[in-house]
Amino acid sequence: MKALDELTFDNRFARLGDAFSTHVLPEPIDAPRLVVASPAAMALLDLDPAVAQSPVFAELFGGHKLWAEAEPRAMVYSGHQFGSYNPQLGDGRGLLLGEVYNQAGEHWDLHLKGAGQTPYSRMGDGRAVLRSSIREFLASEALHALGIPSSRALCVIGSDTPVWREKQERAAMVLRLAPSHVRFGHFEYFYYTQRPEQQKALGEHVLAMHFPECLEQPEPYLAMFREIVERNAELIAKWQAYGFCHGVMNTDNMSILGITFDFGPFAFLDDFDAHFICNHSDDQGRYSFSNQVPIGQWNLSALAQALTPFISVEALRETLGLYLPLYQAHYLDLMRRRLGFITGEEGDQALVEQLLQLMQNSGVDYSLFFRRLGDEPAETAVARLRDDFVDLQGFDAWAQRYCARVALEHDGDEPQRRTRMHAVNPLYILRNYLAQKAIDAAERGDYAEVRRLHQVLSNPFEQQPGMDSYAERPPEWGKHLEISCSS
Ligand code: AMP
Ligand code: MG
Repeated sequence: MKALDELTFDNRFARLGDAFSTHVLPEPIDAPRLVVASPAAMALLDLDPAVAQSPVFAELFGGHKLWAEAEPRAMVYSGHQFGSYNPQLGDGRGLLLGEVYNQAGEHWDLHLKGAGQTPYSRMGDGRAVLRSSIREFLASEALHALGIPSSRALCVIGSDTPVWREKQERAAMVLRLAPSHVRFGHFEYFYYTQRPEQQKALGEHVLAMHFPECLEQPEPYLAMFREIVERNAELIAKWQAYGFCHGVMNTDNMSILGITFDFGPFAFLDDFDAHFICNHSDDQGRYSFSNQVPIGQWNLSALAQALTPFISVEALRETLGLYLPLYQAHYLDLMRRRLGFITGEEGDQALVEQLLQLMQNSGVDYSLFFRRLGDEPAETAVARLRDDFVDLQGFDAWAQRYCARVALEHDGDEPQRRTRMHAVNPLYILRNYLAQKAIDAAERGDYAEVRRLHQVLSNPFEQQPGMDSYAERPPEWGKHLEISCSS
């Protein structure tokens, strides 16, 4: 266990030089205080969880203090936003403080979001509000606990610093952790500005730091692209299987590591709705829940375009072609597990599709359905769940097929089925209304609810005493919250 002043830095991205990032110091926020910290994320840096309580912790992550070895930098990148190319983005309000390596030898980027203006701030104030900082913190840690790759969040630091959005709010900072902050948009930036040497330097950095096994392949860049395609196919399969809607899948928000990254007005589905749009400024539904699958491919093709200096168009096209079948295989595998199946059978895909259609028609709660399906033997579970469906005939037909399918695999091994299903079907999900309740309290200065919710979501598969209210269906008002896109 380490104290705060014992972190070991090795700032490899900063060493790439000024063409890749600009030195900027964080601008402190007033009266910094700890809102919430993640002991699990602190463990990634070997930090003793107790240090979160020390005033120096809030000072460091509120921009007042800096380690001597830190090298705060704003990274430059571009990207496709809602389908259109934006030539100049970059860290407009976040800074890469440096890279820390832990006792296991892993490197973690420390990225302070809301740290003030940078050369890439455009018209923005460089700040992040408390509400969006809490949402990013909760989502990062909740996704990780669900087994969905994500950037991590060490803490949220609140303040008295006023910021203006639709109304006056308070500034906050989130300390984000990720093995890399390189986005698809980094490659796009050097490609579209026609700087092949810098693009190559970036590519070599990424290969050496994050895809060393690809360097042993005859075509390292192609091997890396293939890996990025595979990871994204798997990531998006997990989002779809667990009902996560990212909301802003612009290429500047896509990590080359295939982790969930840059949270906007994201949502976990309450009622199942394939057409759900969580981002209210997304008029066309470009990033609707079911569109995440083709958009994943669209984003990968934008990256492929930027990699044409390194890889033949033919090879890129062929590799892109792997995305959809890989996605489908991962998705079906996850859904089989959610339904409690051990093996794969011919009709499984149809069984999943029929169920989703029935859920869609009746507005059935997506997460709870699977949890309850594993609570009891299949026959009694479907009999109880039946009441949630409007099309009873349709559900009965599905339930009959489902029970027959279950019977194919096990007879009388009920406790194992329950354990197996509960291990993949969460009881607790970061529903928007739960986050909102915690945010409302935090905006009044009471952080207890954020901390409790974080704790519940850190262990989403296990029933926790006294936490039943977190596992209930959301109230009607809670399903229709408009989450502000400003952050
Ligand atoms: P996002 O929608 O958060 O992914 O941000 C898109 C771009 O806008 C990135 O370049 C951000 O750094 C920048 N940005 C977002 N909010 C602000 C802000 N309040 N001040 C400065 N830049 C911002
Ligand atoms: Mg972004």
